Amino acid sequence: MKASVFYGKNDIRFEEVEQPDIRDKEILIQMKACGLCGTDIHKVTEELVPSGSVLGHEYAGEIVAVGKEVSDFSLGDRVTGGIHVPCFTCEQCSRGHYTLCPEFKKTNIHPGGFAEYIKLPEEHVKHLLYKIPDGMSYSEASLAEPVACCIHGQKAVHIHAGDRVLVMGAGPIGLIHSQLLKNKLVKEVVITDVSDHRLNNAHEFGADLTINTGKTDLETYLQEQKHPGFDVVIIAAGVSALLPQAMNVLKRGGTVVCFSPFTIKPVVEIDASMFFHDEKSIVGTYSVSPYEFEEAILAIQKGVINTEALITHEMPLSDLGRAIELTQNKTENVLKIVLKNE
Ligand SMILES: [Zn+2]
Ligand SMILES: [Zn+2]
Repeated sequence: MKASVFYGKNDIRFEEVEQPDIRDKEILIQMKACGLCGTDIHKVTEELVPSGSVLGHEYAGEIVAVGKEVSDFSLGDRVTGGIHVPCFTCEQCSRGHYTLCPEFKKTNIHPGGFAEYIKLPEEHVKHLLYKIPDGMSYSEASLAEPVACCIHGQKAVHIHAGDRVLVMGAGPIGLIHSQLLKNKLVKEVVITDVSDHRLNNAHEFGADLTINTGKTDLETYLQEQKHPGFDVVIIAAGVSALLPQAMNVLKRGGTVVCFSPFTIKPVVEIDASMFFHDEKSIVGTYSVSPYEFEEAILAIQKGVINTEALITHEMPLSDLGRAIELTQNKTENVLKIVLKNE
C-alpha cells in the first residue's frame, strides 16, 4: 500500500509502505478521507516529528478486514474515530481528565491517517470507533475529530445562552467554534483574525461581527463601541501574545479558553490582579475524549456544522505536500483541506 510519508518540511513522499496486519481484536480500514489539521501542518513546517512518520488523524474509511473476535463492526461498515484512547482507570481518568491519561498518547492508529489502509488497534475498536450515518460523506465524517475537539474545549467553560463570546482566529477551528456557539444561542459571536480572506468567510459560520486585528486595535475598537466585553474568549490561533489581550477584553467573571498549543514564545505577561479582583479565569484544553465523538457526529448530521463551506479543498492522498504548501499561501482561500483515497 502507499502512504504520504514525512521526511522534512519540504519533503513528503507518496511511497510504498508495509500494509499492517491485524490481530483478532483489530480492524483494518481503507482510508477514504482524512482531514489536514493545523497540528499536522505545524508538525511538518516545524519538523517536530521523526523522519518516516505518517501523520493524519481526522480519518474516515471503510472496513476491509475484521479480526475474528470483533463483534460490533463488520466488513463494509463506514467508520470514523479518533487516535488516542485513555485507560479509563488511572488517577487522571478517574477525575475525568481523559486526555491527560498517561496511556492516552501511547495509543495510536497505524501507520497514520495519510495512508491507503489504517489499522485500528483493539482499544480503538472498543472505545473510539463510530459508524458514519447514512447520507454523510466520508469527507464530512472526517470532520468529526476536529468538531469533537471543539466540543471538548467548550466543555471546559460554562457557556450560557445570551453570552457574548470572542473567538480569536478564523481558521477551521475558530469557525467550528463559532458554529457550535451559535447553536448554544449565545448573544454575540465576534471573530478576530489578521486575514480579510478568512474573516470574509466568518459570517457564513455564525459570526455576528468580525474584526481584522492586523488593521484595528481590538481594545480601542471595543471601547469606542462601548462594548461590554466578553463572557468567554476562545483563543483558536497559535499566538501566545493573544492571551494578555484576551484577558483585557473579558468581562469581570469571564473565562479565557486556550485552544492552541502556544509552543512558540509560550511565556507571556499577564496582569495577575484580574484573577482576584475580577474573578477572571483561564482554562486549558487539549485533544478530545471518547465522550465527544457522538455529539460531533450529530452536530455534522444535523447541519450545526456547515461542512460544505468548511471543506474548501479535496485533494488526492498523494498531494499532501502540495496541500501543506497551499495552507501557507495567504492569498488562497483555504479552510479545511481533505485528502482523499479513492
Ligand atoms: Zn486535528
Ligand atoms: Zn487513564
